[in-house]
Amino acid sequence: MGKRLKLGNLATSKGSRSSKTVVNEGPSEKTSPYFADDGKATETGTKKRELIKDKRETTDDKGDLEKTSGTPIVEKSEKSKVSTDVIKTEKIKTEVIETEKIKTDEIKTKTIKTEGIKTEKRVTENKNVETDSKSTEDKKRWMPFNWEVILKNIKEMRKDKTAPVDTMGCHKCADPNASPKVSRYQSLVALMLSSQTKDPVVYAAMQRLNTYGCKPDIIAATPDDVLSKLIYPVGFYKRKVGFIKRTTTTLIDKYGGDIPKTAEELCELPGVGPKMAHLCMKNAWGEVSGIGVDTHVHRISNRLNWVRKPTKTPEGTRIDLEDWLPKPLWSEVNHLLVGFGQEICLPRFPKCSECLNKDICPFASKSGGKKK
Ligand code: SF4
Repeated sequence: MGKRLKLGNLATSKGSRSSKTVVNEGPSEKTSPYFADDGKATETGTKKRELIKDKRETTDDKGDLEKTSGTPIVEKSEKSKVSTDVIKTEKIKTEVIETEKIKTDEIKTKTIKTEGIKTEKRVTENKNVETDSKSTEDKKRWMPFNWEVILKNIKEMRKDKTAPVDTMGCHKCADPNASPKVSRYQSLVALMLSSQTKDPVVYAAMQRLNTYGCKPDIIAATPDDVLSKLIYPVGFYKRKVGFIKRTTTTLIDKYGGDIPKTAEELCELPGVGPKMAHLCMKNAWGEVSGIGVDTHVHRISNRLNWVRKPTKTPEGTRIDLEDWLPKPLWSEVNHLLVGFGQEICLPRFPKCSECLNKDICPFASKSGGKKK
């Protein structure tokens, strides 16, 4: 209740002040000295009011324009035009710069591509040069005429594996029940016996030796005469007994009873030459270190012109063969030619009439197959 009363009093006092304000209103025609009773004063006041009004209207119009932008309309228009032109110019400049940039980028890209193509071209050209030089190298590399056809025919003639070497070669001489280490030793001994000796003779001697006990410690302790009897009739059997005994002692002393693992070391052993070493590497270790050239390989290679110039020794033939014959063929060429030499291309009277190579063999055309 107290609050309502206070609020009511407050409203009443406000109403009183409002009525007072109305009473004290500004000068009127009746109260102002400018509205004097003579007509002059009234006329002058009216004119003044009109002048003030006009002035106000002009000032208000101007003020409205100024309020809009704070700048005169003419100036604004000019400035706006200038700024638009500047923007346009800037835009054009930007477009020109961008266009130039795009063009430059395009040129750069083209240049890079061109350079890339040129580089690629140069690389390709270099590669071609390398390939050309390689092919020139291959062309320069000497190879016997028709050697692939001749080899293919020899393989065809050897396909039945009926030659002595197929069943009684050195690779067949080791005791199949021997340990790998002993087997390697027996392979080496068989090769040492094979020089100047036919396969059946070597094979028979190895059968006797294996039955006796072809192991390093047993052979080293065997008297020479006993060993001679065991290997007889192998060619040069007495000399070979000496080689076998000395080699065996070396193997025991230097290699723990095993054989060396390289052709070079094998060649250092008494009575072991390059042919034996390379064949031993293949038979004993299963590695191809070179072509084993025996009397058959030496003879046939010369007959077929598989050497640049006629060679006088198996070692000369080996060097020539290894120069051109692809390495994957090294391991089989010995076995192929030995069997071929045992059955068809015999040392004294080759059976040229039975040979598939009779029409392309240089030796056959020269000798008619009757020459030694
Ligand atoms: S044609 Fe006669 S010489 Fe020639 S490879 Fe044959 S068998 Fe040997």
